[in-house]
Amino acid sequence: MTRPRSGICSIVFCIAFSFFPVVAVMLVLAGARADAAERTPSTTATSSHPALAITNVNLVDVTTGAILPRHTVVIRDGRIVGIARVGVLSLNRNLRVVNATGKYLIPGLWDMHVHLTGVEKRPWTEDVILPLYLANGVVGVRDMGGDFTLLQRWRERVENGEITGPHIVTPGPFLDATMENPANTIAVKSAADGRLYVDQLQQRGVDFIKVLSPPREAYFGILEEAKRKGVTVAGHVPEGVSAAEASNAGQASIEHLSGILLGASLREQELQEARTKAIAANDVVALKKIRQESYDSFSLPKLRALLKEFQQNGTWQTPTLVWSKTMSEMATKSAGDARMKYVPAWARPQWDPAKVSEATGQSGDPAAADFQRALMARFQAVVAEMKDAKVPLLAGTDSPDPMVFPGSSLHEELELLAQAGLNSLQALQAATRGPAEFLHASPRGRTFFGGSQADLLLLDANPLDDIRNTRRIFAVIMRGKYYSRQDLDKMLAKVADAAERQK
Ligand SMILES: [Zn+2]
Repeated sequence: MTRPRSGICSIVFCIAFSFFPVVAVMLVLAGARADAAERTPSTTATSSHPALAITNVNLVDVTTGAILPRHTVVIRDGRIVGIARVGVLSLNRNLRVVNATGKYLIPGLWDMHVHLTGVEKRPWTEDVILPLYLANGVVGVRDMGGDFTLLQRWRERVENGEITGPHIVTPGPFLDATMENPANTIAVKSAADGRLYVDQLQQRGVDFIKVLSPPREAYFGILEEAKRKGVTVAGHVPEGVSAAEASNAGQASIEHLSGILLGASLREQELQEARTKAIAANDVVALKKIRQESYDSFSLPKLRALLKEFQQNGTWQTPTLVWSKTMSEMATKSAGDARMKYVPAWARPQWDPAKVSEATGQSGDPAAADFQRALMARFQAVVAEMKDAKVPLLAGTDSPDPMVFPGSSLHEELELLAQAGLNSLQALQAATRGPAEFLHASPRGRTFFGGSQADLLLLDANPLDDIRNTRRIFAVIMRGKYYSRQDLDKMLAKVADAAERQK
């Protein structure tokens, strides 16, 4: 028996999930390893599925990019209880053994920007949206604003194993300047409001606070109170605040590269003031012009100075490139996407690209469509700069926005991050190690990443050779439960059935 090497491998792999001190990880795994080898699988109430051994697998260490060939991973009660080279562990006969020769094991993926309950009045149902993520290898989502009553229920039922879906962290409603939909939004008018709602939401049990575009004073009230209470704030850079100010105020993540185009403009101050006026006057034409001027006055040195602030403040970025790309192509997109069968029948007309481009002013306006494409190219260049500046990145999609398909769009996002200049490992980290590091600051995050949780993906090919290989899913392991390719296909067929029935 050659035990020492297995110890090293265990630590390396485990670090992908947890940020425990290395010693603690060693102790956890050292104890658990003997356990896995010597005892029969638990049949207590906590174990609703048999203990599992995945053998002959290539482990992908998402921290270093090392591939550890011919390993066995033992999973029980939702946790990884043993990792070693093949032959080190004596596998108990009561284990379900999966021979994974030629397969690659990675941590399950997280989509760090979704809206599970949508932003429209009618949310997708749990039997459609939740399995769609899981069947595509997404074991966790950071919801970015929605109906908290519903989200809370789903969050609990997923963790109790009552429904099939990804782990959920959620801020509940957005904090914004106005209230569009009372289930999803809270209007925050002043600093006092900001403080009050942070306290109220924390008491209601949200995982973090989401800001959309509250007024300036309200925004700083929110950030100040959140800091005092140790709550994370994530979201857009509000209209009346600069990207540098948001970063310096301690906003933990910035979504959709919001505020960055303006922050990298040589005319930032002047355009910011013009924008505030245009918003107050609801002057759409002026806003469009300001956007174009921000784009035209872009300065690479100014961008780099801003990115340096992000890096120093530890401000994460969720570029949601797939959303920008989808928007930029909407005018020419076909409605015939094969994944449309997973969209509830009632929502399909809203997803019609022709209708969306009309609603967003792109149809019949080649200049608007051209600008969207130029913007997309600029965003990819910005992401490349972020990578070079070591600004931490998160993979997120904004699904289910029209034509941004829950689950599968995360793989598109990873590909777009790679196209922007991240290598495959860096792209993969944006959906694995990055989310673990980001969410580890929150109590619920720690329960998902605190130690050896068995949320894993088994792939047919090496994702480090080509990031598109994350789509080649052989199996998903969620909370220790094994879903084979066949199980996942059945899950998808059930989703399509449910979606079709919802008129
Ligand atoms: Zn969003």
